[in-house]
Amino acid sequence: MNKGNKLYEGKAKIIYETKDKNLVIQHFKDDATAFNNLKKAKVEGKGVLNNRISEYILTNLSQCGIKTHFIKRLNMREQLIKKAEIFPIEFIVRNVATGSLTKRLDIPEGTVLERPLLEYCYKKDELEDPIVSKEHIYSFGWATEKDIKEIDIITLRINDILTGIFRGIGIKLIDFKIEYGKAWNKEINKNEIVLADEISPDTCRLWDMKTEKKLDKDRFRKDLGNVIQAYQEVARRLRIMPEETNISEVNFGKATSIKFKKK
Ligand code: UDP
Repeated sequence: MNKGNKLYEGKAKIIYETKDKNLVIQHFKDDATAFNNLKKAKVEGKGVLNNRISEYILTNLSQCGIKTHFIKRLNMREQLIKKAEIFPIEFIVRNVATGSLTKRLDIPEGTVLERPLLEYCYKKDELEDPIVSKEHIYSFGWATEKDIKEIDIITLRINDILTGIFRGIGIKLIDFKIEYGKAWNKEINKNEIVLADEISPDTCRLWDMKTEKKLDKDRFRKDLGNVIQAYQEVARRLRIMPEETNISEVNFGKATSIKFKKK
């Protein structure tokens, strides 16, 4: 699939056109940002790992009946996806209190929530993605009540599936952010809601079940060090990467030399 013009460049990914108007290429960069772009760095190898981890997770979700934008991985950094019109909302699911929730409501860090908490944030960098209510979403026409009803059900199901996947590899899913869009389904000749973007240690909080060691982007946000090693640990436990590979020793100019398992 040949890459066409750049359609959009975000903080961690670039979207390119393809010859097919309904398909685009999603390229994973090594750039890491936090605190609304105030902190920036390149984390060598992050894009390669997130591409693989997100492929693995979206494929598993799709096998459980969740509709996603993912079609196939093209190479180390790119995947072919359905072009989707993204809702301007970040859907956040929390199982354990940490991050902005603890600050906003003075909830003790690590509080296990009675039930998963769904939050909605308006995607607007200039405003630092403020939390909004469903009423804001409906009033401003960012999505309809019908869309949100459907998305809430899918989101809770995704939380159940992801919790299970991570529990199976000794990791607690603390919280995560997902995005949805509307994409064309040529089989039914209709637009439908699909899970979009990525699911990776950039977008989830993942704690080792026994030690509570953070295996996610908080290592970057909080300067805990060993960022790439943590992402690599997640990939290894998911059995996407063989034990002996050490991504920090890989020359990314020759990225094809990384040993990943074939599907
Ligand atoms: N998150 C994300 N992108 C964002 C904001 C949040 O992927 O722009 C994820 C984050 O990694 C965490 C969850 O959403 O898994 C909840 O984030 P929180 O609001 O606590 O983020 P903080 O403000 O602490 O970074």
